[in-house]
Amino acid sequence: MSAESPILHPLPHNITIIDLMESGVAGRTGCYVIKSDKIAIIETGSSLSAPHIIAGLEHMGISPEQVDYIIVTHIHLDHAGGVGYILPRFPNATVVVHPRGARHLIDPSRLIQGARAVYGDKLEEYFGVIFPVPEERVLIRDEGDTLDLGGGRVLSFYDTPGHARHHFSIHDPISEGIFTGDTIGVRYAKQLTGLDYEPIFPSTSPSEFDRDAVFQSADKLEKLGAKRIYHSHFGVTEPASVAFARIRETVATFAEIARSSFAPGMDYRILMERLAAYIREDMVKQGHPIDSMKGFEIDLELNAKGLIFTLEREASNK
Ligand SMILES: [Zn+2]
Repeated sequence: MSAESPILHPLPHNITIIDLMESGVAGRTGCYVIKSDKIAIIETGSSLSAPHIIAGLEHMGISPEQVDYIIVTHIHLDHAGGVGYILPRFPNATVVVHPRGARHLIDPSRLIQGARAVYGDKLEEYFGVIFPVPEERVLIRDEGDTLDLGGGRVLSFYDTPGHARHHFSIHDPISEGIFTGDTIGVRYAKQLTGLDYEPIFPSTSPSEFDRDAVFQSADKLEKLGAKRIYHSHFGVTEPASVAFARIRETVATFAEIARSSFAPGMDYRILMERLAAYIREDMVKQGHPIDSMKGFEIDLELNAKGLIFTLEREASNK
């Protein structure tokens, strides 16, 4: 994989997105670089994205030694799979993670096991190697905790389950923005879909999707009064109210479609078809009909499997 020409998206307030080129495609997953007296990056992606991060930082005139913090919103492999792999390149960086995620970075065996169950033989092809993070380099941030980047920039952390229980979001008062990982949905970038429009749909991948927790997390984050949402997939939604309204509507619909289709042991492909039909319908409603599922298809299978997983767990808990 060549990373000689990293794709960078400079944003206002000393924030830059480095495209992580997940699965070799642009506009899928981004690493946010925040520059203040200290430098933080948010999300590393998998180990396959490491060359893009190094090249991207170099392009910005930042050496890996200058990076103080590597923050991961949650520990799914497309966000944090490469942390342990890339960390030796960042001798001065501390890894910042949700309290529920820390032990899985330190000992990724259960994470690998879970990912193997979802991706099977394709795990390494999709996400490369997964290495542990030394415990002494991990910093846990819990609800309301802060991280001072100097220069008057103090990030705040909020527990935001819904997509995953080990997920936090990060409020940046300088940019008046929130880095929401996958909690407030996936923004489907133009580069990914080829459309002239960027819709938001939820990510309901296995194994901790919880519709009500998404609503609660959205309520909590909306109260912060931020102006913009930084999605890890991919880019910025402004005003933030658009993303909040959109995630509430689409997550309710996804969950409703799943519930009305659900039967124990069902074939996930049935639900995939119904979610695809809703996406097509919704795009027509928004005035942007689509001819293909280009860019959306990558999430459909995981979304269907995650919705079914949650309903099956509910059914077995009754
Ligand atoms: Zn993700």
